[in-house]
Amino acid sequence: MASKMASCIFCKIVKGDIPCFKLFESEKTLAFLDINPLSRGHALVIPKYHGEKLTDIPDDSLVELLPVAKKLALATGATEYNILQNNGRGAHQEVDHVHVHMIPKPNPEEGLGIRWPQQ
Ligand code: IMP
Repeated sequence: MASKMASCIFCKIVKGDIPCFKLFESEKTLAFLDINPLSRGHALVIPKYHGEKLTDIPDDSLVELLPVAKKLALATGATEYNILQNNGRGAHQEVDHVHVHMIPKPNPEEGLGIRWPQQ
């Protein structure tokens, strides 16, 4: 576990070793903009506790994730958005530290389309 944490990108973001555009922080939770956004405002909400999949994380580190994603969705002003959480390569998980995506549906006038594989 310790070696996986040492090489984990999101643990490095939590420690401040890798910069991020921070949106929210509490004792157990961090939210920041996705570095490769699928739409403007695409955010990630993560538990500070390191675990690869949802089942690896204690419940007390999970309870804030959805409320924070909701607040971020409200903050974008978007009325349509996706909240997603992927577990395992076959489910499109690339970063092995649990994270919740909040992906606002772009205004069609901006000409941006969400290119999420499941859609
Ligand atoms: P996954 O496919 O659900 O694992 O999504 C991982 C997400 O993490 C992708 O949307 C990436 O763009 C994002 N990501 C990877 N590295 C960074 C980073 O250093 N900062 C912010 N987002 C990142």
